Amino acid sequence: MITTELKVEKIAQSKIGDVDFDNLTFGSIFTDHMFECDYIDGVWQNPKISPYQPLTIDPSAKVFHYGQAVFEGMKAYRDDNDDIWMFRPDQNQKRINISAERLDMPAFPKDLFFEGLTALLKLDKEWIKKGDDSALYIRPFSMATETCVSASAANQYKFMIICSPVQSYYTGDVRVVFADKYSRSANGGVGYAKAAGNYAASFYPAKLAKEQGYDQVVWTDADKHEFLEEAGTMNVFFRVNDTLLTAPTSDRILDGITRKSLLEIIKADNIDLEVRKVSVTEIVEAAKKGELKEMFGSGTAAVISPISAFSHGDYSYEMPTMEDSFAKHLKKRLTDIQRNKSEDQFGWRYKV
Ligand SMILES: *Cc1c(COP(=O)(O)O)cnc(C)c1O
Repeated sequence: MITTELKVEKIAQSKIGDVDFDNLTFGSIFTDHMFECDYIDGVWQNPKISPYQPLTIDPSAKVFHYGQAVFEGMKAYRDDNDDIWMFRPDQNQKRINISAERLDMPAFPKDLFFEGLTALLKLDKEWIKKGDDSALYIRPFSMATETCVSASAANQYKFMIICSPVQSYYTGDVRVVFADKYSRSANGGVGYAKAAGNYAASFYPAKLAKEQGYDQVVWTDADKHEFLEEAGTMNVFFRVNDTLLTAPTSDRILDGITRKSLLEIIKADNIDLEVRKVSVTEIVEAAKKGELKEMFGSGTAAVISPISAFSHGDYSYEMPTMEDSFAKHLKKRLTDIQRNKSEDQFGWRYKV
């Protein structure tokens, strides 16, 4: 029977007592419940919340063969009054459907997204801990479940939301390599989508970077490797003297919600900002002249990750330590809004 009414099956006994919340490895422990909904015969149906558990999926499901899979990443926070907040979840809801469209997957309806999300968070709210270091990382995703190995878009899908308690992870010392051989995305490609395959394709170049003592790759344009685009799962900002630079988004660059929120804060705080193509040459020149003051990545997982060094070809550069760091200022501004510690001047908070 087709129904769009949310069914809830609660866990008999919570697993929360077994979790050491002071020693969490990012994204490895999951809460008591999960949300799922299936797309069959052109209709999203049977939304349900059930105890977190493995799925049984046929080996011929198209997701395993052709990678039709998209995801999102968002967070929920508990403030000192025990209210639960999210940050611009409407943006994630829109973006997963933008990603889905590019992979010829069906959009997931907004009302079901928010109904499933809020019901799941209310059920697992004890997993959202107080404190500046704690958050619940939320992972919505969608995948092709049709059982058939012919190479075409599936006619069946499963949408899910799972949640993982996290501590703000220490990213103090991110060292990056500017890509000069590999690419993560192409013109007309899927770079702007949070498509699973984008990440699979980035792991090998990232491994090579690690072998050279770096943590991540900053991707450049696929044509000439001339312009700096974004890091692994983060958009990237450069501070040259007192001006912040970041690339405009495009079909190769993911439109990060952290990035676009930072742009608003930067403008409101009257920090000089240029959203334009940023060339490898100008950043290397700025570094040589001592004008490159900061580099940082922006994304939901770490909010802002300061970058402490970069390498490009034979050239390598260690960033100076800044007293009046823009990264630090912006991280505080944004996390204070996210955690209900400051006025929400942009209307970004969402009370669960
Ligand atoms: C998720 C992601 C980002 C950051 O997006 P946010 O919405 O800020 O979390 C940036 N680049 C890539 C490739 C990503 O996957």
